Amino acid sequence: MFELTGKTAIVTGASRGIGKAIALKLAELGANIAFNHLGDGEKAEETVKELEALGVKAAAYECNVADFEASSKLVEDIIAEFGEVHILVNNAGIVRDTLMLSMKESDFDAVIAVNLKGTFNMTKAVYKHFMKKRRGRIINISSIVGITGNAGQSNYASAKAGIIGMTKSIAKELGSRNVTVNAIAPGFIRTDMTDGMPEKAREATLAAIPLKRAGEVTDIANTVAFLASDEASYITGEVIKVDGGLAI
Ligand code: NAP
Repeated sequence: MFELTGKTAIVTGASRGIGKAIALKLAELGANIAFNHLGDGEKAEETVKELEALGVKAAAYECNVADFEASSKLVEDIIAEFGEVHILVNNAGIVRDTLMLSMKESDFDAVIAVNLKGTFNMTKAVYKHFMKKRRGRIINISSIVGITGNAGQSNYASAKAGIIGMTKSIAKELGSRNVTVNAIAPGFIRTDMTDGMPEKAREATLAAIPLKRAGEVTDIANTVAFLASDEASYITGEVIKVDGGLAI
């Protein structure tokens, strides 16, 4: 269906979870993949092997997206190794959930630093490259809580709402350079992140989903594949909810 042969994609936080599924899907469509992760080098190496088995070039880099200089160097290293970059997927994210009453300043700062500042750092690092090449795709992984808000997630919802504002702004800045910038707002997707939720909260969320199931990582990966494809070339500044109807 979609064809990405000869393209190179950067996917942040792709050693596991949604990022890994995105990397595998884009590779299945022919894209070479460079991805970063924070800690688990073994998982990252496993992912590299799975990507290479699909017949594409793949490399993993240890890099904290919250670090501006490191993100900039990451993109330089990837361009040196892969030649150029066509697609950036800002996926890396963390949660530090608690009511604001008990939220520490460090819980707020950490979530903003990785989710929102990390998206800025990586976007800034590819910005000139995409401008010069007069093409590019930026796909930001936000969340439905960035649209609806959620008790216990004021830090995370602020970061994810900020990503939506950034997506729309950069879409306006880079439109004339043929660069599209879109966001995906996942609902409740089964990953390590949601496995950490209290059982009661998980049950309540599942019950509220009109499609009556949790989302799979492939549901997000398929949407990224569409936004990265030529078929989506006239879509920019958009936020696509992939949530089984949870935020209707
Ligand atoms: P996950 O299973 O916890 O995986 C997070 C990934 O991000 C890991 O690869 C991790 O690397 C990487 N990462 C974390 N902090 C990083 C940093 N500072 N620098 C670089 N990489 C970092 O999470 P997920 O559920 O797949 O979520 C992926 C994205 O979807 C996140 O942005 C999340 O907010 C968003 N989202 C998820 C859901 C959901 O229901 N799961 C819903 C809405 C939105 P290591 O393995 O090295 O730690």
